[in-house]
Amino acid sequence: MYVLVINAGSSSLKYQLLDMSNENLLAKGICERIGIDGRLVHELPGKPKHEADKPMPNHGAAIAIVLDTLTDASLGAIKSKDEIKAIGHRVVHGGEDFSDSVLITDEVMEALKVNSDLAPLHNPANITGIRACMENMPGVPQVGVFDTAFHQTMPAKAYLYPIPYEMYEKHKIRKYGFHGTSHKFVSARATEMLQKPAKDLKLVTCHLGNGSSVCAVNGGISVDTSMGLTPLEGLAMGTRCGDIDPAVLPFIMEKENLTAQQVLDMFNKKSGVLGLSGVSSDFRDLAAAMGSNSRAADALEVFAYRVAGYIGRYAAGMNGIDAVVFTAGIGENDTYIRSKVCEYLTWLGVDIDPELNGKRGQAIDISKPGAKTRVLVIPTNEELVIARDTKTILG
Ligand code: ADP
Repeated sequence: MYVLVINAGSSSLKYQLLDMSNENLLAKGICERIGIDGRLVHELPGKPKHEADKPMPNHGAAIAIVLDTLTDASLGAIKSKDEIKAIGHRVVHGGEDFSDSVLITDEVMEALKVNSDLAPLHNPANITGIRACMENMPGVPQVGVFDTAFHQTMPAKAYLYPIPYEMYEKHKIRKYGFHGTSHKFVSARATEMLQKPAKDLKLVTCHLGNGSSVCAVNGGISVDTSMGLTPLEGLAMGTRCGDIDPAVLPFIMEKENLTAQQVLDMFNKKSGVLGLSGVSSDFRDLAAAMGSNSRAADALEVFAYRVAGYIGRYAAGMNGIDAVVFTAGIGENDTYIRSKVCEYLTWLGVDIDPELNGKRGQAIDISKPGAKTRVLVIPTNEELVIARDTKTILG
């Protein structure tokens, strides 16, 4: 069964075509600058990237280009688009309506629209991607896989904000959490690697990428996570501020004569390690700069300190942990950040082997043999989770 996985953003659309009889990747790529001009980057495993400027006035045009490319005689992976039996979509916010992936129906589309209120930057783009697929591939079943779904198992003590309860009842203001497909994937993989039943394991999974979040996984389910109503809460990120005193918002509005939306924009796009360092949101640039630039060094310290802080909090919340898992761009590649975070965790029985910490590109336990709390590095694969869920739902 061939499944097309789509991750539609406001001006980009990532895709992967997977053969779900063996979970092999057949092709992947990204359409960028949709609505501006349009650029396709397409890749077949083991072959050089194909890049081309193509007009993409909207997401429908982008999907049509993806389908043409996937069926192209030299660039393609299939003969006809009819070989694609299902489409799995990443959807950012499922609110309280979706605790699992779902077959997309008219009713589901309505619920997605309602939840757009909670993710105004993301859900409308996801809906546009689904519509574009409906137009280009009528009749092909589509499945929505939510970033929030894995965290719907959180208990009230973790998801309630201590503000008037009516705010939750009236407006559904609560912690939802994101990166659920990644936390789900790496926690399941960690369970296999630790060779224990999921019910006996307490894990903290750290998805550290452009956006970063930490998740407490107890007995295979999410019991707490660092992102909140939106993906702005929690860790310091590439450009997002994470946890700050809410009173900072009106304070900056007044001092800088900005609107709430402008300050939110600052918190989303100009803060985090970029805002602190003034150098970059990319951890490779910060590592290169930190020797001569104390703000870049401070930004990395703040980041690591906050990751460690969340791990400690979740260790308390679960009364101990068996393993910490690092994943995503920074978690998988940044040996400096991993070692910095682990320095704070010796009290938990964390003790990593510097040589193993230097390895890349594989799922690996980087702990010294006797360490009580294991530290795993696991490459994430959100597209595979989406394709697996799509296959499961379609039976
Ligand atoms: P997202 O999917 O959220 O866009 P990724 O998980 O791809 O992000 O992570 C991207 C980030 O990972 C980059 O901004 C960079 O900071 C970091 N990163 C990627 N490769 C490396 C590396 N080799 N060393 C350190 N950091 C890296």
